[in-house]
Amino acid sequence: MVAAAAERVVAELREACAAPAARLNEVAAAMEAEMRAGLREEGGSKIKMIISYVDNLPTGNEEGFFYSLDLGGTNFRVLRVQLAGKEKRVAKRESKEVSIPPHLMSGNASELFGFIASALAKVIVDEGRNDVFEDKHRELGFTFSFPVRQTSIASGTLIKWTKAFSIDDAVGEDVVAELRTAMEKHGVDMRVAALINDTVGTLAAGRYNDEDVVIGVILGTGSNAAYVEEASAIPKFEGELPKSGNMVINTEWGNFYSSCLPITEYDQALDEESLNPGEQIFEKLISGMYLGEIVRRVLLKIASQSTLFGKVNHTKLKTRFILRTPDISAMHHDETPDLRIVAEKLADNFKIKDTSLETRKMVVEICDVVTSRSARLAAAGIVGILRKIGRAVPGDERRSVVAIDGGLFEHYTEFRQCLESTLVELLGEEASRSVAVKLTKDGSGLGAALIAAAHSQYQ
Ligand code: ADP
Ligand code: MG
Repeated sequence: MVAAAAERVVAELREACAAPAARLNEVAAAMEAEMRAGLREEGGSKIKMIISYVDNLPTGNEEGFFYSLDLGGTNFRVLRVQLAGKEKRVAKRESKEVSIPPHLMSGNASELFGFIASALAKVIVDEGRNDVFEDKHRELGFTFSFPVRQTSIASGTLIKWTKAFSIDDAVGEDVVAELRTAMEKHGVDMRVAALINDTVGTLAAGRYNDEDVVIGVILGTGSNAAYVEEASAIPKFEGELPKSGNMVINTEWGNFYSSCLPITEYDQALDEESLNPGEQIFEKLISGMYLGEIVRRVLLKIASQSTLFGKVNHTKLKTRFILRTPDISAMHHDETPDLRIVAEKLADNFKIKDTSLETRKMVVEICDVVTSRSARLAAAGIVGILRKIGRAVPGDERRSVVAIDGGLFEHYTEFRQCLESTLVELLGEEASRSVAVKLTKDGSGLGAALIAAAHSQYQ
């Protein structure tokens, strides 16, 4: 028998995380309303709705060599691709992954950008004397996954560093100008054709393979979404409307908030103790950085109210972020009859031993409650965007594809299945037949090169 106190904790969790269709429809409607407010004026919503200045997405016809730099993920990468048109597509692809020396992450801007430019210079030396460049210049897409105030397709000022980076003299500066200066110093002759973020890159990589892709979503350590908007539907957009009539919007939906979100005491405590209290609330409910931590907090509460996990002083269980999302994914997918993997994870992470099968089942249920809420909210966010652009609504016959990248979506099967079934639940059987979800990897590498190609000066 699982102790009554523990059962009560789980029942309360289930209740507080509940996200039935009616509630998710409210979330989708709130997302749509916030999107409109953010498009109306700068600062009009908690979601920034950043104009990316990407007004052309790749068509598949692109040809030539293109480069990309990817800064802001786990590793820094340089990519060189040869695009060979509709039939042959990506004919060649070479990439180099380098880890940024830690001292450069908190040094000064010229050192960091110097390091990046020298990595790029090496790639050019390696490619040797290639006659393809005789009449054509090199072009580069730069994926920079930090908050940027974009000022044109190839310029933007850094708002703040996140993750492990903190280089004071770069804040407020145009990151492309810094890159260009460093490239000149290293003798790299290349045009920076686009500055993008990874979500926009995912949208582009998705579109390259499927012309019906209209939304790109990241569900990894963090979460964000980008989509194709009609340029005339962006009141805050100043200047001439692009010829294509389209504009990619980077929603920055991680900062979405609405009173209809199902938020628990665990989420509140996690937020208060976080590096950015009050910010990124949607992201804290759905992304891979936090799901394991939410589960840990629930387990700690159970340990404080029952003896299910033993009577010891649970030092490990009190350690923040010790339980990672891949751990809860492994427990959630445990198909052994005695839930051996759950037992192992509890022992390895928390030194909790000798749990009963009942207790292990309860742990799996907690993972399920937290992850289902996450996947259902992510689906509601996607539905909000689809409704904003008039997709999958009565009368719309078009096929709409959502390109999704990120370790949470890629590796956590229960999460992915729940997201997909929730889309059907919210859109209805009929409408959901025209909506597809596609795992789209490497938006931050290939996507940036493709956007450089789509915005090439020489094609
Ligand atoms: P990033 O978001 O840092 O660019 P990824 O897109 O690869 O990197 O996502 C990594 C994140 O995906 C991890 O932080 C983790 O939260 C999640 N993740 C990775 N592997 C798994 C897994 N097996 N199960 C669940 N989540 C995973
Ligand atoms: Mg990434």
